[in-house]
Amino acid sequence: MKPTEKADMKYTNQRVEILAFLRDHDGHPTVDEVYDGVRKKLTRISKATVYKNLKFLTEKGLLEEVNVKGVSRFEANFIPHHHLICRECGRMEDFNSEQLLDYSMKIAEEIEGFTIVSTSTNFYGVCKKCKESKESEEPKESEGSKESEESEESEESEESEESEESEESEESEET
Ligand SMILES: [Zn+2]
Ligand SMILES: [Zn+2]
Repeated sequence: MKPTEKADMKYTNQRVEILAFLRDHDGHPTVDEVYDGVRKKLTRISKATVYKNLKFLTEKGLLEEVNVKGVSRFEANFIPHHHLICRECGRMEDFNSEQLLDYSMKIAEEIEGFTIVSTSTNFYGVCKKCKESKESEEPKESEGSKESEESEESEESEESEESEESEESEESEET
């Protein structure tokens, strides 16, 4: 076997493992997460190699790269879908809605001079996990204002989410 063939096989093997990992882990793993996963099988692989392979597979159209808060995440799901993205922890979940896809494409058809082939909508918010951990951290409001607690609370949480959003967009601009 020629040395180039041997190298080709090594790359192929790495790519097969990376693809297999991403097919098993549909939570849009980051480079670090893919590296941690693949390393269990390919013990000598470096993070740089994982990164290079991820980029290669994305260029070849075998993976999709999505960017959340400046962090690259990868997925092997090519069925058009939407995403629910947590502003707090960066967690990203698939969200399927045929209705929304159809609707987006219908609107997109009206755009002139640009051919649309696919669409995906990102919904930003706070995931269940973050919401729960936040609630357990925050002490309950004092007894005094108990009457209109429910309506006030929902307004407040919306406001605080908004202010956090603007803070975060500033942060991501810096990076
Ligand atoms: Zn979260
Ligand atoms: Zn996805």
